[in-house]
Amino acid sequence: MDRRAAYAVELAQGLARFFEPRRATCPWCGSTRIALLQRSADLIQRKPGEFVLDRCADCRHVFQNPCLSPAGLAFYYRDFYDGLGEATMNRVFAKQTEWYRQRAELIAAHADPAEWLDVGCGHGHFCHTAHQLLPRTAFDGLDFGDGVEIAQRHGRIRRAFRGEFAELAPELTERYDVVSMHHYLEHSTDQRRELATALKVLRPGGLLLIEVPDPESPWGRLLGKWWVGWMQPQHLHFAPRANLRAALTELGFTVLSDTTDRAAVTQGWTGALMQLAHTLLPPPDFPWLPRPSRFRLLLRNLGLTAAVPLIALSALLGWLVRPIVRARGLHNSYRIVARKN
Ligand SMILES: [Zn+2]
Repeated sequence: MDRRAAYAVELAQGLARFFEPRRATCPWCGSTRIALLQRSADLIQRKPGEFVLDRCADCRHVFQNPCLSPAGLAFYYRDFYDGLGEATMNRVFAKQTEWYRQRAELIAAHADPAEWLDVGCGHGHFCHTAHQLLPRTAFDGLDFGDGVEIAQRHGRIRRAFRGEFAELAPELTERYDVVSMHHYLEHSTDQRRELATALKVLRPGGLLLIEVPDPESPWGRLLGKWWVGWMQPQHLHFAPRANLRAALTELGFTVLSDTTDRAAVTQGWTGALMQLAHTLLPPPDFPWLPRPSRFRLLLRNLGLTAAVPLIALSALLGWLVRPIVRARGLHNSYRIVARKN
């Protein structure tokens, strides 16, 4: 069956099976004081469906409600990092060298690790860059998709572990000096379980490096659903930094540093502009949507061509106002380094 026919079969069964029942309580603290934060469509892949984020008034945890079910996760991830989307995502991730370097420097300030596990490693571009900064460190990668095997084939990681972190953990107990999770936790259905698993695979004194979109980010408030950090429907949970720090301390970690990203502007408004342009224009020929006419494809290409100078201008503007953005703390993500006690 070709892709379009396979998607048609799935969609004919309706979207209800892609969602868990709606929760009446906060999944982080159990409070019943939860309120709507925003509704959004799938702004990137434009697959059908509406996604709701709620916020807990007591602990400020933000979560997708109703949350995607296992069938929903499979449907909305399909052809994003793998399949149809693989080449695109590989290009996107290969370019973020400066961010990779900043993350690796956070660890290099505390340790010269022998073995490092990158959880949610994708195609292994982070490990490849980090290895240049830490040439004595052996990097292993873990992920769901076939990106992790591609990473190993290209020599970006030493060993590939494909599957779920908690399920693979028994064979990795106390094996690593560093575990990193960059933009991984927000995709997980159970963040505390991920942290406990990291604790298990770390050697005593080992370091955990986490980077996640900050639900308290000013960009998130300013740009609403257009903020790339919300990224529906993939991002399921957003822990405010105070909650994550408290959870780490409870588990047996000591938080060593808590900082924010420095490359904030492009991801802030330029990202939102790109999402807006992508949404306003007719969609490309995605197999989960009706086949577009030649006229609509032409319209899309013309629109994209017209948007290029606008987006370049906004990136330039962003670069110019960088000092103000930094002084005002307009970050997108926070980064925590914690040591296993
Ligand atoms: Zn709560």
